[in-house]
Amino acid sequence: MAGNYDPSFAKEVFDNVDSGEEIKMCMQCGICAGSCPLRHEMDYPPRQIFTLIRAGRRDEVMNSKAIKLCTSCYRCKVRCPRGIPVIDVMHGLAHYGIKKGIIPRKGTAAFGGEFWKMIYNIGRIDEKTLPLKYNLLEGLVPGIKSTIEMAPMGIQMFLHHRMKLLPERKIKGIKELRKMLDKAKEMGKGGAN
Ligand code: SF4
Ligand code: SF4
Repeated sequence: MAGNYDPSFAKEVFDNVDSGEEIKMCMQCGICAGSCPLRHEMDYPPRQIFTLIRAGRRDEVMNSKAIKLCTSCYRCKVRCPRGIPVIDVMHGLAHYGIKKGIIPRKGTAAFGGEFWKMIYNIGRIDEKTLPLKYNLLEGLVPGIKSTIEMAPMGIQMFLHHRMKLLPERKIKGIKELRKMLDKAKEMGKGGAN
């Protein structure tokens, strides 16, 4: 097993990660892992991530694919018998990893840029196009290679009705949404000054 045992890691998560303390309530039933459409793609499903945190396995958790793969489908959160906000913890870990420089900010910033553009253009996310555009930022050949590697995940998402085969259409209130996004952008610039 890679990585060293870090006895302070669990406390670090409880103190610094969004909803991190909630995992103390986990009874390891595995319902979250069984419900997750991406469990076959994740190196560690959510239940195991929580075990690793409590076991002080910092490297495995912070370098895991799982915390970056979560698509916010909420299945885990609505099914957890202890009401643990699993999704919040998974995203919280990813944000913490970015903040600590463990997960590269460049990649996430590029992803965020593509995400924003798509929301601005059609008002929703097309689960097929977004990863493709993001992957192509690496260059044509590596982009196509990464996209092919993601195909099994895409098939799982399609089978779980998380992705359509046809392109997503613009939402009805796209003009109003754009006005709100423009306003949000302006406010963001103001806050940055
Ligand atoms: S469903 Fe809830 S209690 Fe069960 S393993 Fe997942 S987080 Fe823990
Ligand atoms: S919200 Fe994330 S961790 Fe939870 S079931 Fe969906 S993809 Fe899996």
